Amino acid sequence: MSGCIFCRIAAGEVNATVVYEDDQLLAFKDHAPKAPVHILVIPKRHIANLYELTDDDADLMAHIMLSIPKVAAQAGLQSGFRTITNTGSGGRQEVYHMHFHILGGGKLPAM
Ligand code: 5GP
Ligand code: ZN
Repeated sequence: MSGCIFCRIAAGEVNATVVYEDDQLLAFKDHAPKAPVHILVIPKRHIANLYELTDDDADLMAHIMLSIPKVAAQAGLQSGFRTITNTGSGGRQEVYHMHFHILGGGKLPAM
């Protein structure tokens, strides 16, 4: 989707520090980290947010969820991590390309 910053990162048009990639998803460091480790996991295909998913995305979503702990472990977060997905204005979503924040390292504040 033209103009979407995460589509441009997925296409290699905008630089990001990529930590994991396969045919369906990309994981890269957040450029304004809110924790010692802050990684974003995105589908390469543009999906605005969780509300835009359809039943056809079930395999993709399973793949993303199964990949998140692998990305976290590779980043050294063996003791655990937090996963956040902001959806819509009510969820304070800023980038409308679905993404999963992986936050960890040090001691995260309690929810
Ligand atoms: P959300 O949409 O869930 O509120 O958060 C979007 C996240 O994307 C923010 O944590 C922000 O720092 C990050 N972000 C926005 N634009 C870029 C970018 O161009 N590169 C990278 N690496 N992160 C970005
Ligand atoms: Zn996009």
